Amino acid sequence: MLPLLWLLVALGGALLAASLRDWLPYLVGGVLASALAIWVLVSTLWPSRPNRNCPKCHREGLVKIRRSQAGVRCELCDFRDDTMHVAYLDDW
Ligand SMILES: [Zn+2]
Repeated sequence: MLPLLWLLVALGGALLAASLRDWLPYLVGGVLASALAIWVLVSTLWPSRPNRNCPKCHREGLVKIRRSQAGVRCELCDFRDDTMHVAYLDDW
């Protein structure tokens, strides 16, 4: 039953592609171009969020020890690492 269903879906897709033959390149190009534009927009406008999860207590407590230098500590427990780098933690 299932292969027959897939065959029908494939046949329907082929018929749809045949009926839209003149428009198919524009349709595919439009979908690709808008997907690219949406991807760029979302990547640009999405705010960067640091991963502040502490490796010791597993809660969101990591903060910088000194700004623009490596080294983090946890506000919620006594975790401290002078060499650990967390991306985007300066912006947070
Ligand atoms: Zn912690």
